[in-house]
Amino acid sequence: MSDRFAFSLDATDGPARTGRIETPRGTIRTPAFMPVGTAGTVKGMLPGSVAETGADVLLGNTYHLMLRPGAERIARLGGLHKFMNWPGPILTDSGGFQVMSLGALRKLDPDGVTFRSHIDGSRHRLTPERSMEIQRLLGSDIVMAFDECPALPADRARIASSMRLSMEWAARSREAFGDRPGHALFGIQQGGLEEDLRAESAEALRAIGFDGYAVGGLAVGEGQAAMFGCLDYAPEQLPADKPRYLMGVGKPDDIVGAVARGIDMMDCVLPTRSGRTGQAWTRRGQVNIRNARHADDPRPLDEHCTCPCCRGYSRAYLHHVSRAKEMIAGMLLTWHNLHYYQEIMAGMRAAIPAGRFAAWEAEFHRLRAEGDIAPL
Ligand SMILES: [Zn+2]
Repeated sequence: MSDRFAFSLDATDGPARTGRIETPRGTIRTPAFMPVGTAGTVKGMLPGSVAETGADVLLGNTYHLMLRPGAERIARLGGLHKFMNWPGPILTDSGGFQVMSLGALRKLDPDGVTFRSHIDGSRHRLTPERSMEIQRLLGSDIVMAFDECPALPADRARIASSMRLSMEWAARSREAFGDRPGHALFGIQQGGLEEDLRAESAEALRAIGFDGYAVGGLAVGEGQAAMFGCLDYAPEQLPADKPRYLMGVGKPDDIVGAVARGIDMMDCVLPTRSGRTGQAWTRRGQVNIRNARHADDPRPLDEHCTCPCCRGYSRAYLHHVSRAKEMIAGMLLTWHNLHYYQEIMAGMRAAIPAGRFAAWEAEFHRLRAEGDIAPL
């Protein structure tokens, strides 16, 4: 284990990369998928179970934790790792994105954003300096710069002005973060789907200097083809010797397509959220376990899967508990979904050094195209 933050690339296969991020709290194998622990919990999972799925790092949400239970309270209680009993690395977002998507009556100015809590209507303010302070109070290992991003589609002028404001905030985030050995600060590239704005943003971030770089402002409604179009150039505008993080992505095929284009880290609520609504992700695509076809099916979700859900429970049982809204339905499907996501990551991490990423990717798509197993 390292006493500092460091990234090393082990192998590349085309734009796809595999490597490791060393932190004082453990190693993150890349490409990495980060389960989302929104409010200090990966919903329905014990931290040890999340680790068992193969996750090396969790994501925590600044917006949710600052409102409830409060960053200062978590700091008094020993920090987020101790509070939620997750000893491994934690990445926290800056709060900016969720203020824009969840906060009420938000008012953006050049210094920051003022908003009302979606929980109790109380008034709050986030600035680059306050976001850095909150993420330090939480004890985050990987801190994200505070930024602003418009929902797509947006016109070019709005995307450009928003990106330039985010670059000013990135510099202020860097200044406020200071020198914290063992902790990393990531900058966030913006610029929508405009290649030249993305290049300008990457240049501004490089000039400031960060420990890692995120591709921000994607997966906000532009669709997969447009997102992949942007990822055909955006990652390579960023430094090759630092981790590249695609925020808020995505479905299994989004993740594989992103890694194919040079992304090292991703996070998404999809495997956990869909687990709570009866949706499972398998090698053969998406399964709605609430569908009547599963009511008498004694087979597991995926006979090749080694997760506790697939080893111990039938589709018929999962169908029953999901329909009956039993807690175990969300727990088992979440476990399976996270296990499957981590299996995808492990498969890519093995394929890249062997120089067979393209073959792995083709097999991934071939199985998905077959669709779910036929009903009995
Ligand atoms: Zn499974």
